[in-house]
Amino acid sequence: MSSAMSLPNPASAQPTGRLLFDMSVPGRRAALLPPCDVLPSPLPPAALLREELTLPEVSEVEVVRYFTHLSTLNYSVETGMYPLGSCTMKYNPKRQEDIARLPGFSWAHPLAPAETVQGALQVLYELQGYLGEITGMAGVSLAPMAGAHGELAGILMVRAYHQSRADLGRRKVLVPDSAHGTNPATAAMAGYEVVAIPSDQRGNCDLEHLRAALGPDVAALMLTQPNTLGLFDTHILEIAAELHRHGALLYGDGANMNALLGRAKPGDMGFDVIHLNLHKTFSTPHGGGGPGAGPVCVKPHLADFLPTPVVALAGEGASAYRFSAPSQTIGRMGGFHGNFGVLLRAYAYIRTLGPEGLREVTDNAVLNANYVRAQLTDLYAIKYDRTCMHEVVLAGTRQKAQGANTLAIAKRLIDYGFHPPTIYFPLIVEEALMIEPTETESRQTLDAFVAALRAIAREAEEDPELLRTAPHFTPVGRLDEATAARRPYLRWKQPQG
Ligand SMILES: *Cc1c(COP(=O)(O)O)cnc(C)c1O
Repeated sequence: MSSAMSLPNPASAQPTGRLLFDMSVPGRRAALLPPCDVLPSPLPPAALLREELTLPEVSEVEVVRYFTHLSTLNYSVETGMYPLGSCTMKYNPKRQEDIARLPGFSWAHPLAPAETVQGALQVLYELQGYLGEITGMAGVSLAPMAGAHGELAGILMVRAYHQSRADLGRRKVLVPDSAHGTNPATAAMAGYEVVAIPSDQRGNCDLEHLRAALGPDVAALMLTQPNTLGLFDTHILEIAAELHRHGALLYGDGANMNALLGRAKPGDMGFDVIHLNLHKTFSTPHGGGGPGAGPVCVKPHLADFLPTPVVALAGEGASAYRFSAPSQTIGRMGGFHGNFGVLLRAYAYIRTLGPEGLREVTDNAVLNANYVRAQLTDLYAIKYDRTCMHEVVLAGTRQKAQGANTLAIAKRLIDYGFHPPTIYFPLIVEEALMIEPTETESRQTLDAFVAALRAIAREAEEDPELLRTAPHFTPVGRLDEATAARRPYLRWKQPQG
């Protein structure tokens, strides 16, 4: 046993560490109400009233401390580095929050006549232009409200495109085996048969397999560039040419755009359609199912199919900006006009950084990932040993052989104060540790993160049990995640007896 494990957890000595219900003392109150000096309104019918409603009886300071304590149990990008690969958990500057909260924007009503919200429409119009410029695409719709939602919009556009050409035999969508799970799910939701394409020795999409799978029944390939291994697919131009030669389209999953800003445009690589995750690349706090935005950007031959609304500029004057519907639109992706607050943050972020700033984001994101990679590959295995882009996929195979698998490494990292990286994804890397440091971490923080992972590698050698039983310093240790999800304990019950 390590000495660190016997340290007391100071939080547990405080009553705040207990459930609010368990702190209840009969008669204790959190409010002092003055005597009622208006006519009381009648209570609802007796049948609707509960005699016994066990609410905790606690004082005001107990309530305040209880919830303040709970808030400190959260881990966020504002409490520490969040290297969750594929998620791009960068720090989001507060300026975007100020701008999203400007009353002229936050109070705008989605049904307001266009002539009364020209400023808001101008922001959307200009954002469409910026995203088109950044991705090298001709048309943009900001309507989809998540990455996966953008994927669905994109694949529905692919389907509409083939249908418009009376090319009705295309039943298959190809998806590399390194893809995010939303890719095959999207293709299946749009009614396609999903065909997996293996990765080659270097982590690229395997060209031989791709060629063998192509034919008149293929609608599209969904490719992530750089892929979820954090690797730039160096065959991209050949891949695009092969697809187009067979009349199929190249769909881009743009969740990894943080690796390309100002350096390379998916449009130049041959992609026909790409979605972006504004909440990843363009700075909106995300995680926990919060609001997102997944705009779709397309080449001219798909522009007529974009989901509505698209903001158009017609002439000058009080109603120059207006919502428009492309001629063969796939329709709406949801109510109203997309997640306006997220779109505003992206607009503010792009305007704040400008072209040089955006390029610096990517340069530093890629530099940071390679810095981490270079300092860990003597202790952690790496399946595809190449210069990476914005994230690096290591493997805990050596540590697993010593008795502490990747899950144990991730749990132990919590004891060192770091959020774990993504683990066991991508699926093609055994014991995967997928680390995305992002550009917003300092050299010092990266060094501390590397030091923690190096210390953990030593511990795996000397005392794997310490890892297998981690975390040791959290209010709860190893959770039964399957039961927690299937039988959630959502309601306090009076203890028996
Ligand atoms: C995050 C992610 C998605 C899905 O995006 P959501 O906004 O979570 O729906 C798709 N592909 C990749 C590679 C991702 O990282």
